[in-house]
Amino acid sequence: MEIVIIGAGVIGLATAWRAAAGGAAVTLVDPEPASGATAVAAGMLTPVSELTYGEEPLLRLGLASRDRYGAFVAELEELTGLETGYRTDGIIEVAFDADDLKYLDDLRRFQETLGIPVEALTGRECRRLEPMLAPGVRGGLLAPEDGSIDPRRLAPALLAAGEKLGVRLVRRRAAEVVVERGTAAGVRLDDGTTLPADRVLLAAGPWSGDIGGLPPGTVPPVRPVKGQVIRLRTRTPFIGRSTRGMVKGSSVYLVPRLDGEIVVGATQEELGFDTRVTAGGLWELLRDARELLPGVTELEFAEVSAGLRPGSPDNAPVMGPSALPGLVIGTGHFRNGILLAPVSADILSAMLLDGPVPGVAGPFAPGRFSPEVHS
Ligand code: FAD
Repeated sequence: MEIVIIGAGVIGLATAWRAAAGGAAVTLVDPEPASGATAVAAGMLTPVSELTYGEEPLLRLGLASRDRYGAFVAELEELTGLETGYRTDGIIEVAFDADDLKYLDDLRRFQETLGIPVEALTGRECRRLEPMLAPGVRGGLLAPEDGSIDPRRLAPALLAAGEKLGVRLVRRRAAEVVVERGTAAGVRLDDGTTLPADRVLLAAGPWSGDIGGLPPGTVPPVRPVKGQVIRLRTRTPFIGRSTRGMVKGSSVYLVPRLDGEIVVGATQEELGFDTRVTAGGLWELLRDARELLPGVTELEFAEVSAGLRPGSPDNAPVMGPSALPGLVIGTGHFRNGILLAPVSADILSAMLLDGPVPGVAGPFAPGRFSPEVHS
């Protein structure tokens, strides 16, 4: 089975590895691997604290992926000898005013109805866990099973794992999907070369809609949703786990890495393919981060960056066979692509190899946006 994957972000990279492990001959096409949202992401693995009303199928997918993470990372690190910065120390989410606290209370009740373990904490309990938290913190929640990973370590490890199993990387832009006799038959590159394939996976993040050759009804409905983040550094321990706050209705988080990096994120802006870092975006992040952890202003500044999350109309991934036989879609992971990488790789590689597809994939089929084309 010859598979060509368009896009070497976390989704394309993870799927390439799993498909190669399943016996396929895989070619990854990307002019600059892991240069999209994967390079900017904070790497929180937080299905529980990301929970939003009406997104229960996404929660189940997120929980399945989080539960798969430990074995996925162990196999990856063992195969490559590379570390990924994987942590399982939970996430604490705190509130400042009565409205923020009420929001967290409602969230906890909703989580409990779904049988998810979260602990309600008083302000004092929050500060006992994270002593750098501001004295004004009113209360919070601890999701003890959530965690984080460093996407800038994960992506090279995934690439190395794929290469060990024979994945070929072609550093070119995919111009179009080649269609022969009504089936995806390969990928044409921007230099005119054609890579023949039995199956093609389209995993080019928010650029997935820009690939040529796609018949009507197969173009995935993804849009870029900009996020700005700040990277800081500390030599002494600052926070022990990912820490998130609702500050007067807006959300900010800080994710600590084992090497002393702390990622502060993230804005959410609908501005098309715009990756400019703005003074206003950074000011909002630092303003809210300082409310949450006043000592943040003492940390060393390292980097600012902006990335584009691949958002779909219902904010959930778009994964599955398209209306074009031979073409599988794997995009739309929006705020959760790092979290969802292991389960997405299992789902997409099974679809590419005609293996048994995990049941949690059901609600995320591309056909939900264009049922007339797929029926
Ligand atoms: P991308 O990582 O964007 O990769 C797409 C790849 O396609 C790129 O490498 C690009 O070069 C390539 N490409 C584009 N066009 C072509 C073409 N024509 N031919 C070949 N290749 C092409 N998720 C979490 O789970 N936890 C988090 O804490 C988190 N924080 C985030 C914070 C921010 C600020 C942002 C922006 C995102 C965050 N995310 C987080 C979301 C996560 O980063 C994305 O969901 C995930 O990276 C999507 O992966 P992807 O492989 O689909 O896309």
